[in-house]
Amino acid sequence: MNFLSLIESKREGKKLAPEDIQNFVREFTAGSIPDYQMAAMLMAIYFRGIDAGETRALTLAMRDSGDVLKFPKDARPLVDKHSTGGIGDKVSLPLAPLLACLGFRVPMISGRGLGITGGTLDKLDSIPGFKTLLPVKQIVAQVQKIGCVICGQTDRMVPADKKIYALRDASGTVPSISLIVASILSKKLAENLDAMILDVKFGCAAFMQTRPEARKLARAIVALANDCGVNTHAILTGMDTPLGRAAGNWLEVKESVVCLENRANGDGLPIDDLRSLVLTCAAHLLVQTRKTKNLNAAQKMAGDCLNSGAPRKKFDEMLRAQGADMAAFYKKLSLDSTAPVVMKLKSSRNGFVSRCDARIVGEIIRDLGGGRLEKDSAINYNVGVDRMVKPGEQIKRGACLVRVHAVSKAQANSAAHRLQSAFEVSSSKPKLRPLLLGVIA
Ligand code: URA
Repeated sequence: MNFLSLIESKREGKKLAPEDIQNFVREFTAGSIPDYQMAAMLMAIYFRGIDAGETRALTLAMRDSGDVLKFPKDARPLVDKHSTGGIGDKVSLPLAPLLACLGFRVPMISGRGLGITGGTLDKLDSIPGFKTLLPVKQIVAQVQKIGCVICGQTDRMVPADKKIYALRDASGTVPSISLIVASILSKKLAENLDAMILDVKFGCAAFMQTRPEARKLARAIVALANDCGVNTHAILTGMDTPLGRAAGNWLEVKESVVCLENRANGDGLPIDDLRSLVLTCAAHLLVQTRKTKNLNAAQKMAGDCLNSGAPRKKFDEMLRAQGADMAAFYKKLSLDSTAPVVMKLKSSRNGFVSRCDARIVGEIIRDLGGGRLEKDSAINYNVGVDRMVKPGEQIKRGACLVRVHAVSKAQANSAAHRLQSAFEVSSSKPKLRPLLLGVIA
C-alpha cells in the first residue's frame, strides 16, 4: 500500500476505497505507518471530510483491529448505553443493574474522565477492591452469569482507537464528526450489541455545545449503528446544569446507591432528574428490543423494576463479582464524607435558583483534585460537591446552596468562593428547559 498517495488523494478531496481504509488502519495499528503520516491523513480527513461509506469502513476497520466480544446464544438481548459525558452524569451505575433485572445482558465497557468530564471507571475505582480491568473471558462469563458488567476496555479491544485517539488529541483533529463517530462506535460495536441508547449531551459543560451540533452527531451515530445491525436510538439532553445533586467520584457512587434505593439524597432532597434519565434510557431499550410496545408502558415497567429493589441487590452482586470489599464499601457508604474537610456555601438571599453552571462546577471539582488535567494524572476520589440545590428550587437566605468536600480548609474555601459564580438566585421562579430535548430513533 502506498500510504502517501492515499494522504494526497484525501488532501485533494477524493474518496478513499474501503480496502484502502482497512489496510491503513491495520498497518497503523501494527506500527508500520509512522505517526506523522497518520497525523497528516487525520488532518486531511478533518478538512476534506469522509462520507458515510468511508466512515463505515473506518469504524469497522477500527472495531476489527482487536478482540470483539463473543457471547453464547441467549434469549436476553445484549444492550448498552453511551453518553457523551457531563458533570454529575452517573447514569451508567444504576442503569446497568436495572437493565440486568429487566432481562438484558449488559457488557458496559466504559472510560475514564479527562478534563472536566467524569468517567464511569474513575467513579467505580472509588469502591474499595473493585476491579475495572478484566480479561475478555471474565467479562463474557460475568455478563452470562449475572447480567451485567461495567469495566474498562482491555488492551486487546479496539487498539486502533487508542492509537488514533492519542494522535487526534495531539494533532488538533478531535472535533471531526466522522472521526468522533468512528471512535465511539468502533468501541460499542466491539461489544457485539443488539441495541444501544445514546445520550448526546449539549450545553456549557458538554462536548457538543449546541443542540444542532448534538443532533448532527446523534444522527450520524444512529444511522451508522443501525446500518451495522445495532438497533440504536439517541436522546438529546441538556448539560448546562449538573445531573443529580452530587458530582465527584465517590459522591456520585453514593448518589447512585440512593437512586437504586429510591430514597431522597442527604437533607431529604429528591434526585428526580437522575432517576428520570435512568428510566428513559431503560425505556428506550425496552421498546427497541420489542420487550414493550410503547415508551409509556416501558417507563412504567422500568420504574416498577427500580422500585422493587432488585436492581439495588444486582448492583451489589456486580460489585462482589468484580472483587469489591463489601464490608469496606458499606462502611464508606455510612460516612457523611470521606474527605478531610466539608464546607457549606450558603445563599446570600431569598429567592429561586435560576442557574447552576455545570462548567464552573466541573472545573472546580477538577481543581480540587477530582479530575485530570492530563491523561495519566492521579485523582482524588473523595473530593467533590453534594447537596446541590437545583435550578427552579426555592432557597432561603442562609440555607445551603451546595456542600464542598475538599482535602484542606484552604481548598474548600477557594472552591466555595468560586462556586458563588456558578449559582444565580433570582426573585422570580425561572422558566426551565426540560432535561430531555430530543429523540432520534
Ligand atoms: N469519545 C470517544 O470515545 N471518542 C471521541 O472521539 C470523542 C468522544
